[in-house]
Amino acid sequence: MSPIHLEVGNNNFTMVTEKKFCRECKEEIHGRRDKQYCSDYCRAQHFNNRNAEISNFMRKINYTIRKNRSILSDLNPKGKAKAHRMKLVDAGLNFDYFTNVYRTQSGKVYYFCYDQGYVELEDDYYALVIKEDYVG
Ligand SMILES: [Zn+2]
Repeated sequence: MSPIHLEVGNNNFTMVTEKKFCRECKEEIHGRRDKQYCSDYCRAQHFNNRNAEISNFMRKINYTIRKNRSILSDLNPKGKAKAHRMKLVDAGLNFDYFTNVYRTQSGKVYYFCYDQGYVELEDDYYALVIKEDYVG
């Protein structure tokens, strides 16, 4: 049997199996059935795009945390302040993003955006603090 006959046999076999499409350009993939990309170009492109998405995602989070820090800093020029939750919300503080959390032994939870932090008091009020307030 010549190699040509072997190839025809393989083609006949792949025709009855499910068609595969490139994850990047969506073109039909010919050749090995376990291939996920039609070409090296598409494979590289797919990972580049994925990295760009991740970078963009990280950029947005970094931006949000820096913005949070700026808001907290503006509302707390003396290093100690009190603010109602609505004031923080109105200023644009995003409570979902922070750099670290500090839990005191008494169970209070401080959220920090770098050096600027806040801790919930009563009646929707927050104490705004800077890092030196609890370190050391
Ligand atoms: Zn492709």
